[in-house]
Amino acid sequence: MDTALQSNDIRDVIEADRAHVWHHMSQHKPYETVDPKIYIEGKGMRVWDAAGREYLDAVSGGVWTVNVGFGRESIADAVRDQLVKLNYFANSAGSVPGALFAEKLISKMPGMSRVYYSNSGSEANEKVFKMVRQMAHRHHGGNKWKILYRERDYHGTTLATLAAAGQPQRREQYGPMPPGFVEVPHCLEYRGQYGDIDNYGERAADAIEAVILREGPDTVGLLCLEPVTAGGGVIVPPKGYWDRVQEICRRYDVLLHIDEVVCGVGRTGKWFGYQHFGVEPDFVTMAKGVASGYAAISCTVTTEKIFNLFKDDPSDPMSFFRDISTFGGCVAGPAAALENMRIIEDENLLENVTAMGERLLANLRVLQEKHPVIGEVRGLGLFCGAELVADRSTKQPVTEPEVQAVIAGCLAEGVIIGATNRSLPGLNNTLCLSPALIATPTDIDAITAAIDIALAKVFG
Ligand code: PMP
Repeated sequence: MDTALQSNDIRDVIEADRAHVWHHMSQHKPYETVDPKIYIEGKGMRVWDAAGREYLDAVSGGVWTVNVGFGRESIADAVRDQLVKLNYFANSAGSVPGALFAEKLISKMPGMSRVYYSNSGSEANEKVFKMVRQMAHRHHGGNKWKILYRERDYHGTTLATLAAAGQPQRREQYGPMPPGFVEVPHCLEYRGQYGDIDNYGERAADAIEAVILREGPDTVGLLCLEPVTAGGGVIVPPKGYWDRVQEICRRYDVLLHIDEVVCGVGRTGKWFGYQHFGVEPDFVTMAKGVASGYAAISCTVTTEKIFNLFKDDPSDPMSFFRDISTFGGCVAGPAAALENMRIIEDENLLENVTAMGERLLANLRVLQEKHPVIGEVRGLGLFCGAELVADRSTKQPVTEPEVQAVIAGCLAEGVIIGATNRSLPGLNNTLCLSPALIATPTDIDAITAAIDIALAKVFG
């Protein structure tokens, strides 16, 4: 590690953090006696903490974000060059990197046409919800205003996106929620709600149709789904699911919004998760991997057909999308995103994801044979989960402290892994792995070797 910070400075940093920083998703009491974790440097898939300890990061910056790895000088250069040229000018104006990145992005998304910029996954999703509500007012006589979301999916931290959270603990103490958000059942076959049947995917999709019929098709405007559920348990939808979902949306004139905040920009081995399933969405949102965390950027992408609805009557002052995002105009975002995409193409990272994802799944399946606590292994590309159960026949989940002990065990081996995000009562029992798209066979084997040791330590 080549750090400019000496040990005395680091103590000051840690004390400043302890005194003044309110960490995300954290119960702070333990920090009164234990140092908060601070990483200070990264290169490739490796990071170093304040004590100078090296870790292999199997979760791409904690929350599946740093897709092209740490320390990419060419991204830093692209951002720097743009910032000294023109760091910002927005309101209704465009920008050079904004235009070039939109063109590049759309070239990877057949059928899509327009990119609306903002700064976070939550914001990108909330833009869709606002577009749908505006379309309800202007084009459906006030109908088609309800938004369907799926149990176990997650779409963000603002109140509207929380209203669309299929993870009840996330919103438990933050109500009342905005109205008009309706839940549909999850599609995780392992915890099947429809019994042991051949056509599980179709049945799970039919459950969405039942909700549309119950609510009244005239009232439902949007179905918002993750292509592969991320923090809700790494759920790859069963065969037949997506075809049926698309069919149902078309039948009832419900727009389909795919939240690619996690899966987008290469994580699953294609540019977008939905591209594995032949889906033709009306909206796609993305954030984390778009610029791999080198700058804040998110995109709400839609079709020309929907875009045109927002310019139907230029004489009407309400006939446009009355929305703005001050820092959605920061050019560092698309400048970083353009270079991020170039790296993925030039280094053939999509192919690498497919190959390394297969290796990761295969390694996890070997661990499953060895450790009865692994009930199921699932994943797509470099996005894998291992669901831990106390008993394979009852599928009784292990406890949260046990999951945390496995994570701590991996950390002790120098590997950072994650788990379902502490928001599903009794079901936060899936280990989550999302290494950078640059992972090598040695990295993948080191990740599963650490999990092997940690599982043996915690469960014998
Ligand atoms: N959608 C999904 C699928 C996510 O996983 C997340 C974040 N974990 C979000 C949306 C929200 O993104 P952000 O935290 O950038 O607002």
